[in-house]
Amino acid sequence: MGGKSPSADSITFLGTAGARFVVINQLLASGGLWLSLSGVEILLDPGPGCLVQSAKRKLKADKLSAIILSHRHLDHSADANIMVEAMTQGGLKRHGLLFAPSDALGGEPVVFSHLRENLEGVEVLAEGKTYSVGNISFTTPLRHIHSVETYGMVFKTPEHTFSYISDSRYFDELCQSYQGELLIINVVGLEAGHPYDHLSLPDAVRIITSVKPKVAILTHFGMTMWRAKPWQIAQKLTGEAGIRVLSARDGMRFDLSELGDS
Ligand SMILES: [Zn+2]
Repeated sequence: MGGKSPSADSITFLGTAGARFVVINQLLASGGLWLSLSGVEILLDPGPGCLVQSAKRKLKADKLSAIILSHRHLDHSADANIMVEAMTQGGLKRHGLLFAPSDALGGEPVVFSHLRENLEGVEVLAEGKTYSVGNISFTTPLRHIHSVETYGMVFKTPEHTFSYISDSRYFDELCQSYQGELLIINVVGLEAGHPYDHLSLPDAVRIITSVKPKVAILTHFGMTMWRAKPWQIAQKLTGEAGIRVLSARDGMRFDLSELGDS
């Protein structure tokens, strides 16, 4: 960490678990992604253990400017309440934004109303819209095919563009909607045709070779992917695709300066 300027852009993987059994048994952590972008801290998909994982890595929740939920499933939102509590310093400070799809906020909200009162704002994610947090903007280009309302994001910092493809069944528009130098992609299953509207490895390869980012990072592993040693898969894909493919590890910090100048 030493030597990096405080405004250096980085992404810390507070977990790499996807799908129920890897999460329930905590074979891998499931805390989501912590984005540090030009001095703006954003938490994405705080799954179970996010509070523990972020405290362990000395990431300060009261420095967060926003929490984004791609969808309401537990492995993406279970720690949303406690992270709102932490972002607002236990409710002492009205602070921070929450972004989530409408079905995560209405009916049976995943964040309690008494905690939402402590936020500066709550914004509803919708297809094709652009949002901003300080000098960072992000777009939710399309609604995914998943059992609840789900979006991925294209983030723009003053220096970089990168995308996050959250849970979805494969469909061709995924290949056209997520540009950027870096692509983070949730790959739950090893074999094609995952039964729960999740991407599998062949889908991810198709998307990566179509988007052609400088770097692709596989994460959110289900049991079949984890057993297949995703770091070996990533190495093999790097050779085959001519694109640098990494597999995320719990606690891994990816520095966006590794992408070079855009
Ligand atoms: Zn899901």
